[in-house]
Amino acid sequence: MSYASAAQPVAVDHGQHPLPSYLDASNLGPWGNYLQQVDRVIPHLGSLARWAETLKRPKRVLIIDVPIHMDDGTVAHFEGYRVQHNVSRGPGKGGVRFHQDVTLSEVMALSAWMSVKNAAVNVPYGGAKGGIRVDPKKLSLGELERMTRRYTSEIGIIIGPNKDIPAPDVNTNEQIMAWMMDTYSMNTGSTSTGVVTGKPIDLGGSLGRREATGRGVYTVGCEAAHHIGMEIKGARVAVQGFGNVGGVAGKLFAEAGARIVAVQDHSGTIYQGAGLDVPALLQHVLATGGVGGFAKAEVMANDTFWDVDCDILIPAALEQQITADNAGRIKARMIIEGANGPTTPAADDILQSRDILVLPDVIANAGGVTVSYFEWVQDFSSFFWDEEEINARLVKIMKHAFAAVWDVAQDQKVSLRTATFIVACKRILHTRELRGLYP
Ligand code: NAD
Repeated sequence: MSYASAAQPVAVDHGQHPLPSYLDASNLGPWGNYLQQVDRVIPHLGSLARWAETLKRPKRVLIIDVPIHMDDGTVAHFEGYRVQHNVSRGPGKGGVRFHQDVTLSEVMALSAWMSVKNAAVNVPYGGAKGGIRVDPKKLSLGELERMTRRYTSEIGIIIGPNKDIPAPDVNTNEQIMAWMMDTYSMNTGSTSTGVVTGKPIDLGGSLGRREATGRGVYTVGCEAAHHIGMEIKGARVAVQGFGNVGGVAGKLFAEAGARIVAVQDHSGTIYQGAGLDVPALLQHVLATGGVGGFAKAEVMANDTFWDVDCDILIPAALEQQITADNAGRIKARMIIEGANGPTTPAADDILQSRDILVLPDVIANAGGVTVSYFEWVQDFSSFFWDEEEINARLVKIMKHAFAAVWDVAQDQKVSLRTATFIVACKRILHTRELRGLYP
């Protein structure tokens, strides 16, 4: 079965097993990209392929209306989602995104990539994701809190420390996790720290969680660079998205002697051939909300970001950024996907044909959920580890998982993305088979 690119109508022929209507839309968007990735792994699944349809259907999809009182006295309604793609290996786990472009297709894809990612690093979770279609920058702090709390109450019927554990994603942070934890706790009548991860340290959060995704990006980047004989010291790095993931990854690469030559975010694109002053740029982003207006850099047109001469490209913003339209222009030798789903399958093929190594999201950005797992474990045991121990455990898991995926890619002569899907989907479907169907 093949799926057309995101923008084109898709004909799906499932014979006697018709798809649920929400999977049968004419534009599947990121979910369509995910389905293509699954199709590429099926020939490698052996006898487990008989369960592969499981991967193509989210287990549970919740669409909710989130009404709140606005400061001006009106009532606003926002569309929210929580999708549990697969819970064969454990409770659902995945972030919550607040963004004006959130769609059901996007949340479904993000939840599925969480299933794959959690299995790839072998943490005992299924995959889930949530989101609200809103531009949170347009809300006051009070409106943001009311929306977060109402959303949490609405999804409260399917989340819980043993059911599904949200975490931060684009435009959500520790404060939002604190409100979610409090709302869930108020509704259930007991303080339940383990219901979300990425919380403030004082509420049962984990040291090192905020930096974990960027640290994981850096760790697998160094491992892959070693395999292909690339020196990190002096390497030129371009980063798209300078928030939690891109900002931390950029900082760690700069500290290791790489030059961060270009950064793009929602506020613009900046360039400095000698390497940007990353600590100063992080301060600027903290103060102004974006990289735009940073004094010690040239301003570039947004589209020229893809032409930048660099060795490493780190997309760390949103999905579907590297497409068939710009993949041919990329000069990097290696792409490390900090973002989820930044590369379309068509772009993947172009990059592979041009010998550009892609470290896929499902392994490259798994550091965040790995330390989320540590946070959840610490919350259950009410015993907290120091940051050194957390970082050491994180690096160990990331290196081990990456080495396994690298070996599969070499053995089976497939891309690292397909190799990661092979490792992860076998784990998911093996548990599916062991558990069997109920009733
Ligand atoms: P964030 O909100 O901290 O930062 C997002 C960044 O993307 C910001 O710099 C923003 O300006 C930029 N951005 C937004 N729209 C853009 C556009 N149109 N063009 C260029 N840049 C744009 O979010 P984050 O937590 O850093 O997440 C970034 C990506 O990493 C997302 O794909 C997310 O799903 C993924 N991710 C995050 C985590 C985590 O732990 N936070 C874990 C795994 C994956």
